[in-house]
Amino acid sequence: MHRDPDCLFCKIIAGEIPSNKVYEDEHCYAFYDIEPQAPVHFLVVPKEHISGAGEITEDNAAIVAHCFAAIARICRELGCESYRIVNNCGDQAGQTVKHLHFHVLSGRDMTWPPG
Ligand code: 5GP
Ligand code: ZN
Repeated sequence: MHRDPDCLFCKIIAGEIPSNKVYEDEHCYAFYDIEPQAPVHFLVVPKEHISGAGEITEDNAAIVAHCFAAIARICRELGCESYRIVNNCGDQAGQTVKHLHFHVLSGRDMTWPPG
């Protein structure tokens, strides 16, 4: 499993930086966002270091499907019937951590289009 020793989320996955875990399996890790933007706001990340959505290829794309299956399962367990899944890719889109992650936001009205 590829990991980047300087990556914040790789350190969180390894338990070197504490996090409030929601879910974990062999391939992904989910934890509550430190700066929640909704009553429920957690992040789902592949355990393998992929720097962002722009690095998804045919070879590693199965992890994305796995993350989405995990999101559906977690939301069912949390009782979240409506939620938004967000990925920011690149600086202009607001990506601040360069390890692929999906935001899951729930518990309030969402606006569209996003800002
Ligand atoms: P991005 O801006 O890259 O789409 O999302 C990064 C997210 O990671 C932000 O929502 C930010 O609040 C969250 N974050 C940054 N550092 C930490 C941390 O140390 N712990 C947790 N739980 N979340 C973090
Ligand atoms: Zn990483």
